[in-house]
Amino acid sequence: MVYLDNNATTPIDPTVGEKMSRFLKTYFGNPSSLYPIGREVKEMIKEARESVADALGAKRSEIVFTGSGTEADNFAVRGVMDAIPDKNEFITSAIEHPAIIETGHYLESKGKKVIYVPVDPEGTIDLDFLRDAITSQTAMVSIMHANNEIGTIQPIEEVVRLAKERGVLVHTDAVQSFGKIDVLVNKLEVDLLSISAHKTYGPKGIGALYVRKGTPIKPLIYGGHQERLMRAGTENTVGIVGFGKAVRVLLERGDKDKKTIAKLAERLKRGIEEKIPNVKFNGHEKNRIKGTLNFSFFGLEAEAILLSLGTKDIYVSTGSACSEESEDVSHVLRAIGLRPEVARSSVRMSLGRFNTEEDIDRVLTELPEIVEKLREISGLDPNDF
Ligand SMILES: *Cc1c(COP(=O)(O)O)cnc(C)c1O
Repeated sequence: MVYLDNNATTPIDPTVGEKMSRFLKTYFGNPSSLYPIGREVKEMIKEARESVADALGAKRSEIVFTGSGTEADNFAVRGVMDAIPDKNEFITSAIEHPAIIETGHYLESKGKKVIYVPVDPEGTIDLDFLRDAITSQTAMVSIMHANNEIGTIQPIEEVVRLAKERGVLVHTDAVQSFGKIDVLVNKLEVDLLSISAHKTYGPKGIGALYVRKGTPIKPLIYGGHQERLMRAGTENTVGIVGFGKAVRVLLERGDKDKKTIAKLAERLKRGIEEKIPNVKFNGHEKNRIKGTLNFSFFGLEAEAILLSLGTKDIYVSTGSACSEESEDVSHVLRAIGLRPEVARSSVRMSLGRFNTEEDIDRVLTELPEIVEKLREISGLDPNDF
């Protein structure tokens, strides 16, 4: 199998899986209990929180574990907007993950003003537009760090500078950038930042929100005293322990994955551009998480390419896993200016830690043949696009 859908989810790292199965077999205690079998689990959660905090350059007390990256995003936006009720505006971008876009729609339904900052053809947000959009009514800006469909990295430091001049809080969805480029809260100077374990070789169903000390925020879930009253409910102990381990592994591997993934992705990109005519690369050439490649294959439907590659045991995607089931074309590809028929011809290949040179060879053998065959069948002239 050649798995090139690492932006949708990553395989669990074997050492993470081992740690989690050992944990499940032994540690059932409730971390809130005062006797030893509770306290030892509490201690393990503390260690995991320490790992996550270390990786972000944050304090342990600034990390809140959540049920997913989506929950971290919801918590950040709704929690802050609820905590600053006298301000009416929320600013985000046109290319956010549905976790933020749909939260924006929810705020609109509650009477808030939501502004979606446009992006240029490479997927970088329009900073002039953002500067003009910020008013005395703006409570918060949320701009993603790296985009999940095209990989473009946003100028978060600039966003923070513009927002801070006006006393506006900044959140960033760093689910795709975490583990791929530096994600350090004091370098980015953001107030809130979301991450998710299953995008970095950890388990599904566990994420975290970094909340800078002193940031006004309301809890998302009310109940017990867990997560400093910010997210009540008995902790997903095995998920947290797995997340902590996955982050330790990231820290230990340092730049190793980044370098190999960048090299493999560059080879794949060049190979596609050399071997397949009438393709368009989507995203930023340089300022991009390097393992994300998004190509439009003029004249074709992406689904047809996906299915054909699938019969060869090669797995890619059309972009956001979350919009896969809807008929709509990707809002990200529309935002960078692709016409609907071009957007519908676009395939995302996202590489990860476990990809090899052989994987790239396989794709570069199969994909050109598949595209050629499908184009013969479709009868459309790719030059018309
Ligand atoms: C995957 C993803 C999310 C959602 O994280 P889940 O843990 O799957 O809910 C949010 N934002 C981005 C950019 C993502 O890629």
